[in-house]
Amino acid sequence: MATERTFSILKPDATKRNLTGAVNAVIEKAGLRIVGQRRIQMSKAQAEKFYEVHAARPFFGELVEFMISGPVVVQVLEGENAIAKYREVMGATNPAQADEGTIRKTFSESVGENTVHGSDSAENAKLEIAQFFQDSDIAG
Ligand code: ADP
Ligand code: MG
Repeated sequence: MATERTFSILKPDATKRNLTGAVNAVIEKAGLRIVGQRRIQMSKAQAEKFYEVHAARPFFGELVEFMISGPVVVQVLEGENAIAKYREVMGATNPAQADEGTIRKTFSESVGENTVHGSDSAENAKLEIAQFFQDSDIAG
């Protein structure tokens, strides 16, 4: 195992319900360090680019509209095995199938509005971090 970085988004359902602190507490308790964090309003173009791998899926339009429906918190998380670790902490995409104690099981209300995003591979982590952070902002 090595120290790695992953990209996280606290989605609009989290900011809307004042859950950013509660979600961050779960992240930090799991041993992941928040080394970059910014609250932004995503543009439609940014959301479409971010989720472009899902462009052909039936839920794509709904997903983009949701991601721009309110502010999000973009984050860089660091830790041992951070990419896989954060996927575990998030839980399954559908909160109904997520394990107890995961962020999605605890906080999410539907498969679409599922509170958090986390990168699924080292390659995507790198690309996703680069879409939202300057190297100089997360150098420490
Ligand atoms: P994950 O976020 O767990 O990696 P996916 O990459 O499969 O999940 O999907 C990306 C996002 O698209 C999900 O987090 C969720 O917000 C949305 N999504 C996935 N499946 C559905 C669905 N069946 N209906 C509505 N939205 C969905
Ligand atoms: Mg995914």
